[in-house]
Amino acid sequence: MSEATQVDVVVVGAGFAGMYLIHRMRQAGRTVQCFEGGTDVGGTWYWNRYPGCRCDVESMEYSYDFDPDLQQEWVWTEKYATQPEILRYAQHVADRFDLRRSIRFSTRVVSAHFDEGSGRWTVTADDGSVTSAQFFVMASGCLSSANMPDIEGRDSFQGVLAHTGRYPHEGIDFAGKRVGIVGTGSSGIQSIPVIAQSAAHLTVFQRTAQFTIPACNGPLDPELQAAVKADYETFRAKNRRMFGAFGSHYPKPAGDAADVDDATFTATMERLWEMGGTMFLSAFRDLMRTPASNERAAAFVRTKIAEIVHDPATAAKLTPDGLIGCKRLVIDTGYYETYNRPNVTLVDIGPQGTPITRITPTGVQVGNEHHELDVLIFATGFDAMTGSLLRVDIQGRDGQRLADTWEAGPVTYLGLGVHGFPNFFTITGPGSPSVLANMIIATEQHVDWITDCISYLQANGHDTIEADPASVESWVAHVNAVADRTIFPSCNSWYLGANIPGKPRVFMPLPGFPGYVDTCDDVAANGYRGFRLDRLGVSAGV
Ligand code: FAD
Ligand code: NAP
Repeated sequence: MSEATQVDVVVVGAGFAGMYLIHRMRQAGRTVQCFEGGTDVGGTWYWNRYPGCRCDVESMEYSYDFDPDLQQEWVWTEKYATQPEILRYAQHVADRFDLRRSIRFSTRVVSAHFDEGSGRWTVTADDGSVTSAQFFVMASGCLSSANMPDIEGRDSFQGVLAHTGRYPHEGIDFAGKRVGIVGTGSSGIQSIPVIAQSAAHLTVFQRTAQFTIPACNGPLDPELQAAVKADYETFRAKNRRMFGAFGSHYPKPAGDAADVDDATFTATMERLWEMGGTMFLSAFRDLMRTPASNERAAAFVRTKIAEIVHDPATAAKLTPDGLIGCKRLVIDTGYYETYNRPNVTLVDIGPQGTPITRITPTGVQVGNEHHELDVLIFATGFDAMTGSLLRVDIQGRDGQRLADTWEAGPVTYLGLGVHGFPNFFTITGPGSPSVLANMIIATEQHVDWITDCISYLQANGHDTIEADPASVESWVAHVNAVADRTIFPSCNSWYLGANIPGKPRVFMPLPGFPGYVDTCDDVAANGYRGFRLDRLGVSAGV
């Protein structure tokens, strides 16, 4: 311990969450050390460099709102920003607030252990360094642990093999190449149309067909940008009161779909389809609550697929079953149209088709068919929400391991604190709106709450804060109850952990940003109700 560097706060991850935490902690006069596995800031936007990668929350909304000058000076060029543009923005923020001096890059945190005697965390990194901190914050990302499926023969492939979430910085040249891609979630659906434009041939291996809505992306009208900037605060405030902390400029829901006839329903959905974007499902209030209403929206999109895709057999394979929006709704640029190209083949590896038998040195074997490939891309997603947390050996009081505490699924209070783990915070953790919200805004809200909390502890002579077991229990029940009022738990999504073999099936995010923020504010205003605040060696009560 004598050799450990002493700081007030250790934060893991230099994506948007970790970057803002550094800024707030420094503003509050605290010493902070950040560790980041990558070589630069940006997190998601540093790692996911696949072709076509871009945001699905509009640029004017998917950006920090903590600094009025920053949001005035940065100029976005497209309605939905590309990955390179968002990465440049993150780098600009790092420069502007001189954040990099608090970040140790190319360094992964491997363990963090709490010592009850000192009330401090001992954080060990893979460079062998040891840091002692009063507070330990995981800003390690909800979608940062790539899921590389363990398919027989995978490592024998002799062509170029990549995962969208760990994409090579130098890029991949697809020109003249036979390319295969496994996975048709957001990453696959964004990259497939772009890869198809330059590859000699693209083979898409699809396990589950996915609903996707046109993004209707385009250059961002400078007048529109100026109009938002003229009163950015009001725009932000309205968005913060939206279900997902974005989309306030879209039409308000037209009542319940259950109350309208087919002509009205179709005309309304058509209008939202033409506007594009994930607000499609806010056309009516009950689309995410009432399966029968949702099924009408699903049928609307199925009709669109049949209209767009020329070959009926391919259209049938691309047509999803089930409810729309249960898995994260995808938005695309020319996805279904891509299957009309002569150089694109769709292979059904789902329950109606034939699963991948093995990967060979020269391609992918599916039953009796061998697909010869030069490049194989895995767009197979992430061990979402808990993956990056559980890859670190986090131990709380009495050596209690987070992995054991969460064996049956993550249990938190507010998605911020865990019983048994004093002075440990998760940013956009399970049990908070997290991935169901505009995540920059969600991370800012968490960072602000944590910063205020630490100041409160100091001002009131407390050394530690820890979630009560009863608050955790009732919060988990609350999250489940809220989710059960929606259609979210009705399919095998990554929200439930269903994409990772053996992962417990628990609905992890909390639907509804504004109500959640109100609860967090109320908890803070009431002396951090539901948490136990202690002085070292002396209980100060709740
Ligand atoms: P991240 O950006 O994931 O950063 C976490 C960082 O922690 C990573 O750089 C990682 O290397 C580091 N890290 C993790 N573990 C360790 C460790 N043990 N030691 C050291 N470093 C570690 N959200 C939206 O709201 N809108 C969108 O349109 C949107 N699009 C997305 C597109 C893609 C392709 C993906 C993958 C996600 C998207 N998201 C979107 C979610 C996105 O992850 C968040 O918006 C946001 O960028 C998360 O920021 P973060 O700082 O919380 O986490
Ligand atoms: P994903 O949504 O989890 O999709 C993964 C895809 O890979 C699915 O089609 C899945 O099929 C398939 N797959 C997984 N394991 C497989 C296996 N062993 N064999 C065959 N197929 C397999 O992952 P993602 O596309 O990377 O997106 C993850 C999340 O990141 C998104 O939901 C979104 O939140 C965010 N994201 C956002 C954007 C954006 O537009 N801004 C872009 C990319 C990512 P099944 O459906 O059958 O499991």
